Amino acid sequence: MSKVRVATTSLAGCFGCHMSFLDMDERIVGLLEHVEFSRSPINDIKHCEPCDIGLVEGALCNADNVHVLREFRENCKILIAVGACAINGGVPAMRNHFSLQECLEEAFLDEIGVDNPHIPNDVEIPLLLSKVHPLHEVVKVDYYLPGCPPPADAFVKILTDLLEGREPALPKNMLHYD
Ligand code: SF4
Repeated sequence: MSKVRVATTSLAGCFGCHMSFLDMDERIVGLLEHVEFSRSPINDIKHCEPCDIGLVEGALCNADNVHVLREFRENCKILIAVGACAINGGVPAMRNHFSLQECLEEAFLDEIGVDNPHIPNDVEIPLLLSKVHPLHEVVKVDYYLPGCPPPADAFVKILTDLLEGREPALPKNMLHYD
């Protein structure tokens, strides 16, 4: 039987959701009997190839985040928003209380210890969005895996449900938002 292809990425995230994914520990070995990975921070594949499940951590903070998210949506049959940042913007969305200019000035001009203050403007740097957005404001999301981060058991449960052809359903003890 061919393996289920899974891609993962971190947009404006902290990689904490990926760390929690890896907290599956030895259960990852069992998972690898049924799953192979497309683009993911845990390998060297640069683009999301057509696959069955995409796990996306992090909110949308900049133009590159939007580009990567669209690539995942085009290539993944099932797209899962993983963690608080992907679901509602999470901690990064706290900057939405300020203008982008205020944030840039605070970080690059006014903060204590800033040497040679200037706001970076190299063309290689992705442009920041004026506000931070959750994934569902830009693409259709199929499932949400809550938590900051979601527990490893929740990754196991949602992936097992999907691999076995069931509608994912998390028990209460795996559902939290902190
Ligand atoms: S939801 Fe929490 S753990 Fe996951 S990327 Fe956001 S801040 Fe990090």
